[in-house]
Amino acid sequence: MKNLYRFFWDCGRSGYLEGLFAATEENVNSAIGEDIYFGEVLGKHSEVYGVLEEGDIEKLYILPEAVEEVSQFLGSNWSGFNPLDYVKTSCDNCEESYRKDEWDCEYREEFDKNLCHECMEELKKENK
Ligand SMILES: [Zn+2]
Repeated sequence: MKNLYRFFWDCGRSGYLEGLFAATEENVNSAIGEDIYFGEVLGKHSEVYGVLEEGDIEKLYILPEAVEEVSQFLGSNWSGFNPLDYVKTSCDNCEESYRKDEWDCEYREEFDKNLCHECMEELKKENK
């Protein structure tokens, strides 16, 4: 079941980021403490990133049924930024961290590890 959350990040002089998004409690909890990388979302060279903390996300108490209903039209991201889309995953092999859309880095069942695309290709070659 999804709840509605408000995200707010004060980025000092560069401005702030905010967003309204629907997510499950598990999804939100698993993103807390993770590295979030927004990139240059507040203008050139702004490089917005940091660790997502509990206080950055506020749960809004509206009926889950209402969240469900609106989500049918808006999807999960209602407005602004959804920090869950910007969580970085680090590769267990090269220890670089990547954003999902940046460089295909995700959990690979066949190796039981988080691997970036490059490392996965390497490991595949070695295993042949
Ligand atoms: Zn890697």
